[in-house]
Amino acid sequence: MIIYFSKKKINTLENRIYRTLIIDVFITLIIDMASVYFGIVYKDSILTNPLAKLYLVAIVSWIILFTYYIIVISSRKNKGHIEINEDENISYFNRIFLILLAVFFGSSLLIFLVPLEVYSDGKMMYTFGPSATISYVIAGMCIILWILILIRNRKKLENKKYWPVYAFILLATIAVSIQFNFPDILLVTSVAAFITFLTYFTIENPDLKMIEQLNVAKEQAEKANRAKTEFLSNMSHEIRTPLNAIVGFSQALKEEELPNSAIEEVEDIITSSNNLLEIVNGILDISKIEANKLEIVNTEYSSKKLMKEVISLIQARIGDKPLEFRTYIDEDIPSVLYGDHVRIKQIIVNLLTNAVKYTKEGHIDFKVNTVIQEDICRMIISVEDTGIGIKEEDMNKLFTKFERFELEKNITTEGTGLGLAITKSLVELMNGKIVVQSIYQKGSKFTVAIDQKIVQKDISELEQELNTEENQIFIAEGSKVLVVDDNKINLKVAARLLKDYQVDITLAISGQECIDKVLNGEKYDLILMDDMMPKMTGTQTLQNLKNIIGFQTPVIALTANAITGMRVKYMKAGFNDYLAKPIDRNTLNIILSKYLKKKTEEVIKDVFIENNEEPNLDLSILKKQGIDVEHGLELLGDEETYIMTLEDFLNESKTRLPKIEEYRIQKDMANYAILVHAMKSDSKYLGFMKLADLSYQHELASKENNNAFVEEHYDELMNEVGTILTIVKNFLGK
Ligand code: ADP
Repeated sequence: MIIYFSKKKINTLENRIYRTLIIDVFITLIIDMASVYFGIVYKDSILTNPLAKLYLVAIVSWIILFTYYIIVISSRKNKGHIEINEDENISYFNRIFLILLAVFFGSSLLIFLVPLEVYSDGKMMYTFGPSATISYVIAGMCIILWILILIRNRKKLENKKYWPVYAFILLATIAVSIQFNFPDILLVTSVAAFITFLTYFTIENPDLKMIEQLNVAKEQAEKANRAKTEFLSNMSHEIRTPLNAIVGFSQALKEEELPNSAIEEVEDIITSSNNLLEIVNGILDISKIEANKLEIVNTEYSSKKLMKEVISLIQARIGDKPLEFRTYIDEDIPSVLYGDHVRIKQIIVNLLTNAVKYTKEGHIDFKVNTVIQEDICRMIISVEDTGIGIKEEDMNKLFTKFERFELEKNITTEGTGLGLAITKSLVELMNGKIVVQSIYQKGSKFTVAIDQKIVQKDISELEQELNTEENQIFIAEGSKVLVVDDNKINLKVAARLLKDYQVDITLAISGQECIDKVLNGEKYDLILMDDMMPKMTGTQTLQNLKNIIGFQTPVIALTANAITGMRVKYMKAGFNDYLAKPIDRNTLNIILSKYLKKKTEEVIKDVFIENNEEPNLDLSILKKQGIDVEHGLELLGDEETYIMTLEDFLNESKTRLPKIEEYRIQKDMANYAILVHAMKSDSKYLGFMKLADLSYQHELASKENNNAFVEEHYDELMNEVGTILTIVKNFLGK
């Protein structure tokens, strides 16, 4: 009893019964001793008989309680583990309990009512008569019930929970035979006590149960947490889609001529939707971090450019707040580093944004120091402010998600309490460290140390590779862009944003429609493709497109799934690039300039690159790609001559194009005219109708010395030459 009650127990039915059983057997032992004592010492006392009856009642109570225990441990409703959903079983066990209780009270009443003979000779005490018989009958009935239960549960008999039952049957048999031969040895209560003691080792170990209970609770909590994370991530995704429309249209509106009042309102819409976007991104990030799905995507990047971007962003955020923003970037920072610049930027911007948010006046110091060791550059980034500071007791909760402090003071400061949690996780994902020092009401200093690999490369080389210089809206008149999205509003947003580049926009509402268009021979310079579409996803559509012979159009994945790691995923799937929704104007500029502003050099370079594909001289392929082969054949006579002329055209272009470029730069319109005239004639013979037409326009313009026209439409001409040369090259297998 001492051991049992000194341990922490779990509140299960089994345990509750055992608790009663242990008390019951204890009381029975006391009554046993008392009745023997009274029976022998005060032989004929008025208490002798009632005490002997009470002892019988006590024995009956123990046996009935033990029966209840066996019923409970054997019941199929008792799953043998913590009954978290005990409620549904409880009424079943309650009914059994009530029946057993009724049996107990009934038999107790009878025991007291019917006579009991007590005979004592001063050494020993004997009890017999109807009262004793009733208790034997009840005990016998209970034991029969146990045997029935054992038979019913014969498959589980090896379960250690039944050990006390077997022990009881065995010991009871031994006890009865001993008592038969040596009536002065009292054993019944001792057997009951021993069995109760034995049961202690077979009931569920309270401590183990506790652990199990904790595990179940933990599992449930984790499940709930996962469900929450998933919900948040889905919600964020859902929010991003309409947000795409808000950001897209307001951005487009801003570029229109608007009345003054509207300009401000549009600015406000943009700021608010950007804030909302930041929140949604934060939630997406944190849910990814929690699901261990946030990947660090390492690329080569320009360190100085990154810092410049951060600084100008923060300067804009400070606006007219009376804050001095002081920056120091170590001059020795290697220009090209290898790491996840998007996440590094996010870390610095988070810290600086907090500094701006939580500082009313004074200054913010942003410092980047570097320690270089072999090919590793340790960036020590610190952000120090003269703001409200953080209380000592809040410091350890600082990096916990959704924790915000001093809410009464910061009532107007926007925030979710996610920034620092994300920042810390990101720093740790990059094997870095973050520390914070703060004096309440004086200011705070956050320091981050991250190691980045040094890349021995010239910055101009990197810029050329990344082709990120272009960041302005430009005119790509004549370029054909196909946008594929199942959401009509998204299509409208994309169309509105593309309008400014004066491209020729085609919209498709499904992957199938896109495929049909391409199969119909429609030519595009670029396809922007949403991924999450019903029936056929963007990725599936792309795979189908790639199966179309001669399909070469670059395809950009367009998706609200703006999680890091997605870029790699889409590139692996075969997309040329990736654009996150809401479409950001700058990113769009970069992407479009990369694919639509195909420079002359690139066209020429393309021509010189050897192609190892097997030639497939089936002219219908050319037809499918929009070339008027019939027209060519009519002029050139037969297929062989046509193909030879194609070869000539290709070879001629290799020398012709650099010259065209040269004359354009020198503004030598006379010679320019001669070459475009030649290109026009060749094109006509070969059925390159569009190229023939464009060359003709250039010929006319250059003959009139209209340099402006040439400049304006030069890219268009080069794009078309590029397209034709690619087709021809593929066709000839060159
Ligand atoms: P948010 O800024 O969105 O509330 P963060 O996770 O970035 O969330 O920051 C958590 C909390 O830490 C903030 O609400 C603020 O109380 C406190 N805090 C963060 N940075 C600073 C700082 N530079 N100065 C004072 N308090 C800060």
